Amino acid sequence: MPDTHHPHLFDDQAAAALRSRLGNTFATGRTHDLAWRKRQLLAVAQWLRDADDAIMTALAADLGKPALESYGTETGFCLAEIRHTLAHLEAWAAPERVSSPMVNLPSRSWMRHQPKGVALIIAPWNYPLQLAVAPMVAALSAGCCVVLKPSELAPATSALMAEALPRVLDAEAVAVVEGDVAVSTALLAQPWDHILFTGSTRVGRVVMEAAAKHLSPVTLELGGKSPVIVSRDADITLAAKRIAWGKGVNAGQTCIAPDYVLVERAVQDRFQHEIIATFKRFYGDDPQLSPDLARICTPAHHARLVGLLDGGTILHGGRHDVRDRFLEPTLLTDVDLDAPVMQEEIFGPILPIVPVDDLDEAIAFINARPHPLALYLFTRDDARVDRVLGRTLSGGACINDTLSHIAVSDLHFGGVGASGMGGYHGVHGFRTFSHTRGVVQRYGVADVPLRYPPYAGNLKWIRKVMR
Ligand code: NAD
Repeated sequence: MPDTHHPHLFDDQAAAALRSRLGNTFATGRTHDLAWRKRQLLAVAQWLRDADDAIMTALAADLGKPALESYGTETGFCLAEIRHTLAHLEAWAAPERVSSPMVNLPSRSWMRHQPKGVALIIAPWNYPLQLAVAPMVAALSAGCCVVLKPSELAPATSALMAEALPRVLDAEAVAVVEGDVAVSTALLAQPWDHILFTGSTRVGRVVMEAAAKHLSPVTLELGGKSPVIVSRDADITLAAKRIAWGKGVNAGQTCIAPDYVLVERAVQDRFQHEIIATFKRFYGDDPQLSPDLARICTPAHHARLVGLLDGGTILHGGRHDVRDRFLEPTLLTDVDLDAPVMQEEIFGPILPIVPVDDLDEAIAFINARPHPLALYLFTRDDARVDRVLGRTLSGGACINDTLSHIAVSDLHFGGVGASGMGGYHGVHGFRTFSHTRGVVQRYGVADVPLRYPPYAGNLKWIRKVMR
């Protein structure tokens, strides 16, 4: 049996042995059973409840996550996803009848949703529990076996999952392999029946290339720069509050965090005034002392973010302390559009503010860049909503809020173009890990003789039937 707790021992051979072990479990057929799937989901939920405190401690160690954010965006989020899945699983898994064409009559046609097999899930560090457990819930709901590779940059949360999940779940069907790039590379060399990767666009390309060797299907949950448009007709106080919140949660280390703001010049001053006041209200005069602000993942990430501050004028914030991995929520104006802060995903508590003359300029700005993972628009005018949604493309979108589309279980969650492909959550996660198999069942009683040779004289009848 491969040693999944000592990454240095996890090589290609260990990855092959693990793949084969889980493949054997899948071949027994026991994971197809809806009762098995439900038992696994209930066991994950029970563990999340039992380990609530331990999870908070781990997330605090890894990222300084405030307890409310730990529960709301990680533990509670996963519990809601499991509850929703358990409530709908039977309906999602039921065969779907479709109508049959005349040439096939008598017959019936339907789609079966069958588990794809053994899935590999690779998770990032920023929501180290949610982004490992929620995809695993989707894979288990579909009846797949799962190998989970958490991020090495959230070691406390990774260790917790590695210890607990195989213990509370069917350990011959679910494995957790801790480790870094080398472990990930060894795993990616194996032929998986599905790979769900969450992480950077750069590594997404590596994953897709490895998957291509075996034609393994992939879901890529990537990142990018998610813009916010603040329209001149918006409720500016509300916009400032919800944008500051979306940027402040997890210190901006959120894949769908508002990356930068495009604000109509007519309301720029008012917006800036409101968002400064909001940050002060949220985190006080000395945000380093606030218990409600998470920390930056590593000193290296911290250094990168501090470097990004050079891309504009600091309107508010800018204080930092690497010893505490602290970076104050910071507003930048007069930003250089060619500077790294406007070229790469920020992934931290820095918010550039870019004025635009009107909505058309904002739309053109967004369309000149890769499709973002999320797009946010603050307006009270439905015509403006239609205009922006109709003329742009992004993974998901929120009107008059940020982040909240991720909490709707039945909304497809995924990127488009450079921000990813495929998606999950709710029924979409179930479908991602299921193969939709089209089946026709015919009956021997009657037959349309026209399709059989010799064809002489049949064409005119076939034309009539298939018109
Ligand atoms: P990352 O791409 O560096 O790492 C993600 C995972 O891939 C980790 O488990 C890591 O060990 C592994 N990995 C790293 N390099 C690898 C390589 N060369 N080959 C194989 N595996 C490798 O991403 P990260 O820094 O952990 O996360 C931040 C990124 O993830 C951001 O771009 C963010 O937007 C994105 N993200 C996206 C979503 C989403 O749902 N779309 C959610 C969270 C984060």
